[in-house]
Amino acid sequence: MKLSKILTLVLALAMTAAMFAGCAGGDDKVLTMATNAEFPPFEFLEGEEIVGADVDMAKALAEKLGMTLEITNIDFDAALTGASTGKYDVAVAGITANDDRRKNMDFSNDYYTASQAIIVMADSEIKTAADLEGKTISCQEGTTGEQYLLDNEYAIQSFKTGAEAISALTTAKVDAVVIDNAVAKALSEKQEGKTIVLDEALTKENYAIATKKGNTELVEKINTALAELEADGTLAEIFAKYELPYDAE
Ligand code: GLN
Repeated sequence: MKLSKILTLVLALAMTAAMFAGCAGGDDKVLTMATNAEFPPFEFLEGEEIVGADVDMAKALAEKLGMTLEITNIDFDAALTGASTGKYDVAVAGITANDDRRKNMDFSNDYYTASQAIIVMADSEIKTAADLEGKTISCQEGTTGEQYLLDNEYAIQSFKTGAEAISALTTAKVDAVVIDNAVAKALSEKQEGKTIVLDEALTKENYAIATKKGNTELVEKINTALAELEADGTLAEIFAKYELPYDAE
């Protein structure tokens, strides 16, 4: 083969490779998100489908960024780790942004204000947070609710999901559940009057989107998109759809 022919062939191959690379480059347009679809109304399963306020928000965000959202449903602690290692671009799971977590991951601006709430049986003698003294409390593993209970030295039983934490209450294995307020309300409503949520907030926390430490470019893009979604009323609309109280700050 003549040198010129070889060169033409090499060039043709290189062009084909570049074309394929161009296609593969399309992968950059995918925003991978980890969540734990056990946290109604922020993320939960409706049949096979992952739905909820966080999911709607993430879809709106991805659309603003011109990316396709790809959601993976895993345990809450795995979602956090997955975001911090960069296995997923983001974790969106009603995640409280706090200093402890900021050591291992970066967060977007806050998008929702929440608190830890107490669920008890409707006929419980526990009426206020002070009545929790000496009681056994269930919670969700790896969450800020669990951390609050540990910090305050309560006897706890931790479960992978809020649903399991509330079953421990309804089967009299624990005296109360501590979990994020909106989720407490959603889980308690499913018990059809057997349980109630006390009107007392144990903490004040802010939800934000988690990503790998140092991922400043993505965080900035997300913050810009979040601000737009807040300004044009999309966020308020999403939270209203799930009956979540929301005050845009
Ligand atoms: N907001 C709580 C936390 O970040 C709980 C989140 C969750 O269970 N999905 O720990």
